[in-house]
Amino acid sequence: MESYNSFSVARQQINEAAKILNLDKATLELLITPQLETNFTLPVNMDNGDVKIFQAYRIQYNYARGPAKGGIRFHPDETVDTIRALACWMTWKTAVVDLPLGGGKGGIKCDPKSMSERELERLSRAYVRAISPLLGVDIDIPAPDVYTNPQTMAWMMDEWERIHWKHSPGVFTDKPQQIGGTEGRRDATARGGVITVREACKVWGFDPTKEYAIQGFGNAGQRAALLHKEILGGGKLVAVSDSRGAIYNKDGFDPLELVQHKLKTGSVLKFPGSKIIPHDDLLELDVEVLYPAALENAITSANAGKIKARIVCELANGPTTPEADLILYDNGIHVIPDILGSAGGVTVSYFEMVQDKYTYFWDEEVVHQRLDKKLTQAYHRVQEAIREKNVHPRLAAMVVGVARVAEACKLRGWV
Ligand code: NAD
Repeated sequence: MESYNSFSVARQQINEAAKILNLDKATLELLITPQLETNFTLPVNMDNGDVKIFQAYRIQYNYARGPAKGGIRFHPDETVDTIRALACWMTWKTAVVDLPLGGGKGGIKCDPKSMSERELERLSRAYVRAISPLLGVDIDIPAPDVYTNPQTMAWMMDEWERIHWKHSPGVFTDKPQQIGGTEGRRDATARGGVITVREACKVWGFDPTKEYAIQGFGNAGQRAALLHKEILGGGKLVAVSDSRGAIYNKDGFDPLELVQHKLKTGSVLKFPGSKIIPHDDLLELDVEVLYPAALENAITSANAGKIKARIVCELANGPTTPEADLILYDNGIHVIPDILGSAGGVTVSYFEMVQDKYTYFWDEEVVHQRLDKKLTQAYHRVQEAIREKNVHPRLAAMVVGVARVAEACKLRGWV
């Protein structure tokens, strides 16, 4: 993937939205700057007796609309700017789906694949010990992200509760259900994305029963593979990829068998009947729906012109650069931007917080219905903004999100 500074991209997007909204200078300055940043180091005892120092981050980008909310990522390429960008996008994402939350994000620069379970636990607990006063159900509520999972959240919640000497399960979301997790969280991001694709098909007449392809076959990608068929009543999954490679079959894969293969072997490669294709070719396939579900900057000016999908539904955060956005728009490709397409996860995380606060839990059906309502409303609100402002979908979604955050800042008397 081409190297881009994601935070510069995020700031450029805010500037464009601010112009359309005629925001004053102080409001713009506030919105292009993280409200609170914490950069810290974590000494951790490794299994071989060495102490290793890890660089960690937590950023509460904006909390005008409510406590900061966003995942914690473990990744070897983590930088403060990636976390800033991700925290910034969370701010608009929670606002687009109209949740009473702000945006945050955290991360640890590490290579989780080379660490043992015990080392990961020590690292997770060290993270919480370092910043525990800055976390809490009314302050900042982390969740999993790339290479973190419900087990990570369970360790982190436990550490926070030990320090604060009280039960407060809502301080981390996407926990295992036995300790305060919600029904419907595991597939929420993908479910939200597929719901927006369903609405796009209704509005724009796309055919969801045709081919679809997925870049990145982790939590979001795998669930999208399954839910696309379930929610849209058809569709042929012709290509998927993970960090090790991309595979293709023109007759389509069985999504469930492919998920089982990935779980068993750790990769999509060598799935029976598949042909290996170059990573970039997957993005350029002639499909009805393309789901980028890997990392940032997958679609750039270098490949945007070659994309043939009718809908690009972004499950990943920041997969498309601003230059690429314009190319996709000019080519009539319907982009469902990340702050809308991947908002299902944070929406159900919010539902988890609410249930934890009340210690009263909803059925899966209720979670699904409420998620559907939120995402459907958000999709149509963004469509209205596209028409009102005559702009491309990402800018329209940004306009909706930024306007709501700016209004909250103003009402609080900050600007
Ligand atoms: P994950 O770690 O479960 O999966 C990521 C997948 O991407 C893995 O299969 C990995 O092998 C693959 N990958 C990495 N580099 C790749 C490359 N260059 N080409 C193809 N595949 C590659 O993470 P996830 O939770 O599924 O998150 C994926 C994306 O969705 C991230 O951008 C994340 O921020 C975003 N997201 C996730 C959630 C969620 O609830 N999981 C919510 C909102 C947004």
